[in-house]
Formats: sequence, structure tokens, C-alpha cells
Amino acid sequence: MPARPNLKDHGLESLREQLAAQGMRPFRAEQIAGWLYRRGVEDPAAMTDLGAEDRAKLAEHWETRALEVARADRAQDGTQKAALRARDGALVESVLIPEEERTTLCVSTQVGCPLACSFCATGAMGFTRNLRAAEIVDQFCRMRELLPEGREITNVVFMGMGEPLLNLDAVVEAVKLLIHPKAFGLAPRRVTVSTVGIVPRIAELLARVPVNLAVSLHATTDPVRDRLVPLNRRFPLARLLDALRGIPQLSARRPVFFEYTLIDGVNDSLEDARRLPRLLAGIPSKLNLIPMNAHPDSPYRPPPEERIDAFLRELAQRGMTVTLRRSRGPDIQAACGQLALRSASAAA
Ligand code: SAH
Repeated sequence: MPARPNLKDHGLESLREQLAAQGMRPFRAEQIAGWLYRRGVEDPAAMTDLGAEDRAKLAEHWETRALEVARADRAQDGTQKAALRARDGALVESVLIPEEERTTLCVSTQVGCPLACSFCATGAMGFTRNLRAAEIVDQFCRMRELLPEGREITNVVFMGMGEPLLNLDAVVEAVKLLIHPKAFGLAPRRVTVSTVGIVPRIAELLARVPVNLAVSLHATTDPVRDRLVPLNRRFPLARLLDALRGIPQLSARRPVFFEYTLIDGVNDSLEDARRLPRLLAGIPSKLNLIPMNAHPDSPYRPPPEERIDAFLRELAQRGMTVTLRRSRGPDIQAACGQLALRSASAAA
């Protein structure tokens, strides 16, 4: 069957043009977005405020779904992870993280990842392809159907499988749908895109969409970062941090969220803790410490509790805003860096 284009690949502006080209009134785009994104209705026949002719055109020319749930798991802490299957059979994972006040969705942007960070399970899978915008926003649509009545997704983090800035156009289009008032309608500050540091694309991302930026730091020296994040050889620490100092959208109100995975004996020394504030000086920032989540593809382990506490104390004494991220859903391999579709064949 020849693939039809998918309505969810288009932000509102682009959708208006597409519809006009097919002889529909451009303002239908907002009605259609209301059905697809606000109400979760994907069958054109059910879009009752469109005329019969427009409904028929949509059904004939357009796809409205991009992903199906292949498998869903729920952890003891309420975290849910799903493997979602695209039309070509590719599988990606999304994670829903319920907290008291909010429900965060963690989305993937690529099938696998080409960057091969040595402590990340996704990195060990290798890279298959980029996701399309429709495949990114459909993670929202499919995952919201797993929530109990009355709960809604309040935050989206681009922290699943893949490197968002290597798939920038699709990520930007997906973000536009997430924050458009006639589409998903999230406040821009509730959307966070995480990057390992594709330096030339960071400024471009923030110039195109008003999201929060997270940067995976993980080390305070180039030799250690080279080992953990091979891309560091191309964009070393000084270059990454200098680029961040020059980005006008960043401010105390919109800081960079640095992620730092603490790994036993690798990047968890008190010298590392002392270097961090100096390294990040001049960048409005918050620091998130994530104890390494162990997985079978990596020799690395989390540090013992006392060392994590000492690291935190050292940073707090130096006046850094720092939080320790508890790992969520480890019993279903849903925690940071554990997304690798170990169950892909069981799910197929
Ligand atoms: N490629 C982007 C988006 C993925 S975000 C990025 O790297 O920023 C996923 C986060 O989890 C990254 O900060 C990543 O470094 C971190 N991570 C990867 N493996 C991990 C592990 N085993 N334990 C804890 N965090 C891990």
C-alpha cells in the first residue's frame, strides 16, 4: 500500500497550506487540530463540524495515526513505558511519569541513536532512522490513552531514545504542535529538549521554538567526557559551554538544565564537584544529578549513597542549584538511559 501523507506531520501553518492545495478552506486546519490533538479523535468520519466532502477528502488522502502500542508496562511507582510500532515496523519507547502535581511524558526522537554514549543503553543499540514529526506527536496521543480518567499530560521532555538535535526539523514541527493553543496547547516552559551538545544546532533550536534546554554534561574534564560521550571529541567542553554563554534566550528565568549522570569511580569525585561551579560560571543553570541506572550493556555502576551525598553537599556549599533525580520505573527498565527495547521481539 503506498504510504499516504500524515496530517500530524504538519504544524498549523503548514496544514493550512496543504488543505488549501486540496481545495479545502484553510481555517479547517484549526478544526482538524482540535479533533486530532485536543479531543484525540482520529477518524475523519467523526469530525462532525466538517462537511461530508471535506471528511471524504481527508479519509482518502491522509493518514491520521503513525504509531500503535506494541506493548505497555506499568512500574510499581506508577511509571508507564510503552513500545510503540511505526508503519515500517520500527519500535520506539515512550515513558509516562506521574508525580503529584504533574504528569511528564518522555518522548523519543530517533529509532536508536548514533552517538554511542558509553553508559547509555540506547547508544548500544546503534541507529536505525529519524522519527517523523507525526511519530513524535503520536507518542503523546498513544500515551495519553494509557492515563486514568481525569489525568492529563502536563509536561513533555525530549529525553527518550535518540538525539533531538540530529532530527531538528521534525522536533521543531512536533514542538510547534505541542505548544500551539489550537493543538495540544502546552505552555512552552513545560516542554524541554535535551541534547548531548550538537553545538551549532543549539542556538538554532532556541531561535525556532521557545522550549527549555537541557544539556547532558556528565563530566568536568575533556578526557572523562570523551570516554562517556564520544561526541565530545568534536565539540569539547569549552566549546559547548562558550556556545551556551552566547545564547540570548537563556536567562535566570529560562536556565539550562544540566544533566549529570553520576558513575562510580568515573565522574563522582569531590574534585569534580569543585570544578562544576567554575565550569558553569556565567551560564544561568540548574544541575540535575542522576545516579547511573545500571543495565546489561554497560560496565558502569552508580556510586555508593555516601559518595552521592558528599557530591551534593559539596555543590550546595558552593551555592549551586542542584537536585538529585530519583530514578523512576527501574523495575520495567524505564529509567534514564535504559530505553533499548530489550523486549522488542517479545512485543512483535
Ligand atoms: N540524546 C539526548 C536525549 C536523551 S536524554 C541527550 O543525551 O541529552 C537521556 C538522558 O539520560 C541523558 O542525559 C543521558 O545522558 C542520560 N542517561 C543515559 N544513560 C543513562 C544511564 N544509564 N543512567 C542514567 N542516565 C543516563
